[in-house]
Amino acid sequence: MIRIGQGFDIHRLVPDQPLKLGGVLIDSALGTLAHSDGDVLLHALIDALLGAAALGDIGDHFPPTDPQYRNADSAVLLTHVLGLLADQGWQIVNLDSTIFLEYPKLQAYKDPIRQRLTGLLGLPLESVSVKAKTMEKLGAVGTSEAIAASVSVLIQDQTADQDALD
Ligand code: MG
Repeated sequence: MIRIGQGFDIHRLVPDQPLKLGGVLIDSALGTLAHSDGDVLLHALIDALLGAAALGDIGDHFPPTDPQYRNADSAVLLTHVLGLLADQGWQIVNLDSTIFLEYPKLQAYKDPIRQRLTGLLGLPLESVSVKAKTMEKLGAVGTSEAIAASVSVLIQDQTADQDALD
């Protein structure tokens, strides 16, 4: 059995805050304003994973009103969600992501982010795609008021590999 999931996240950009994407610190004049570490890519990934397994959304599991998630490391939240999926017998097949940001250009960061995701997820490099695009100066992302990310994932039942061998 296979399932597809998608996730989206957006955060406001402000001066003098760190900008983290996929757990990688980005050299940027603007960073995310958030209750947690504001990592839009990991938040979209978490929602995609929860969605694929029909386990609710990130707000159900990590309420922004809960003080224990203040400045939370999103990689830790992701690890928790991976455990939830594993408990139900799901494993990730692949993921594809897009980051929407006007500045800075993310060309040099795409590979480090991809490497970091493969480490967090225990996936081979070819199963992890990280894309980046600007919004052509349009809308909140285009005027650098915001950063957004979108992620799609495919998950499969862990017995699928075994079935293939039988
Ligand atoms: Mg978020």
